[in-house]
Amino acid sequence: MDIQNKNNINISGKAISIIGLGRSGIAAAKLAQHHGAQVFISDASSSELNRHTLNELKLLNISGEEGGHSDRIYNADLLVISPGVPKDSRVILKAIKCGIPVVGEIEFAYWFSKFPIIAVTGSNGKTTTVNILGKIFKTETIHGTICGNVGIPFSQEVLADTINPDLKRVYILEISSFQMESIYHFHPNYSLFLNITPDHLDRHGTLDNYIHCKLRMAENQTEDDTVIYNQNDLELQHAFVNHKSKVIPFSTIHQSGLFRMNETKIYGPDQESFIGLSQIKIPGQHNIENIIAASTLSFEFGISLSHISKTVSEFTGVEHRLEYVTEIDGVTYINDSKATNLESVIVALSSFKQPLILILGGRNKGADFHNLLPHTKVNQVKRVISYGEARHEITDSFGDAVRSESILDLRDAVVTAKNLASSGDVVLLSPGCASFDQFDHFEERGKMFKNWVKELEWVK
Ligand code: ADP
Repeated sequence: MDIQNKNNINISGKAISIIGLGRSGIAAAKLAQHHGAQVFISDASSSELNRHTLNELKLLNISGEEGGHSDRIYNADLLVISPGVPKDSRVILKAIKCGIPVVGEIEFAYWFSKFPIIAVTGSNGKTTTVNILGKIFKTETIHGTICGNVGIPFSQEVLADTINPDLKRVYILEISSFQMESIYHFHPNYSLFLNITPDHLDRHGTLDNYIHCKLRMAENQTEDDTVIYNQNDLELQHAFVNHKSKVIPFSTIHQSGLFRMNETKIYGPDQESFIGLSQIKIPGQHNIENIIAASTLSFEFGISLSHISKTVSEFTGVEHRLEYVTEIDGVTYINDSKATNLESVIVALSSFKQPLILILGGRNKGADFHNLLPHTKVNQVKRVISYGEARHEITDSFGDAVRSESILDLRDAVVTAKNLASSGDVVLLSPGCASFDQFDHFEERGKMFKNWVKELEWVK
């Protein structure tokens, strides 16, 4: 199938194989089917959920397999892959050898999208920034919808708008580096680059490859488009010199962006007062960066400064990211279950001025907890409570430097934290580990933490 010219792509009657029975694979299958393709979906793993999904798809005339990829997948004019499939996997290499074009789900959905696209990427802060934008882009004339890496497939939103078009639609896409490995024509009208720090090097190999993948998001942008990037970030500082699009920096340090700040306030493009820092409800310097990033993009899009500042001042954050849970006897409880690496824990520690009782633990992903020591000193960590598989490793790393307790499970860690905390303290779950030793995912860990904290209110 010829995909060279986006305007001539027609999948009607074409055989399309979709790799991956996850949310984005299913959504791509439905979108392809809607546009008249013969769809076959295939997943390498076998599970009850996969079998159930295949049965449901069968009702839509979409056939498929699970528990391995048969040669049936190469009987196709096009292969659409989910972000979990690396570009050097055997399946993809073979398809390319057979002359079958291979594209990712984001690229595929893009072929059928009819409305403006904002794409946000970065190593940290994507979900928070996309959620801020999602709130700002809800006005009388703009109906923003967030999708992509946030867990709502782009294909699903594009299909919904194909069936029932909303002329005020704007897509606000969270983009991971994986999703940019397999693009061809995809180009957003606005791209936002938050930061680039080493991440996912297990898949990308080198930092250069990882940066290259992220920067591909702006590769197809033209004179009519806009690139917005973080000028504080050393990797991004030089990335867009000579880029075709309008390029706008944002920064919490430099004075060259549309928004500038001092110790108490952020100022707008004409030096007018935009928002006082005390009006911002989400903690930490990193969130000020996310707010300035989202505000720069929104202002460039043409949204009024007063609407942006009102929405930003009302934004209370995203679940499991430095999320306020409650206050009991003067002690504040914070759920930062999404902090699964030490960089996120360090950002969390620097977000509080109060004395901290820090709960760390779960399954270590290869972190060296010694690296937290300088930060626990500076940021007044009164106690570390370690739990789960990594608990001994964590207490050993801290030695005598910080008073620490080692507890088997998170529920008991919460009770211990309550007993140790006094009025004015913050109990912070910022685990720095994966959740898989005791939970299915970080969302479950965060929800359980909140439930157990709420139980403490009852036993007061
Ligand atoms: P992502 O979607 O990129 O993983 P999130 O918004 O979910 O980002 O935030 C994940 C963690 O990263 C948060 O717990 C927070 O500690 C940290 N974080 C958020 N924004 C930033 C930022 N701009 N710079 C550095 N770290 C950040």
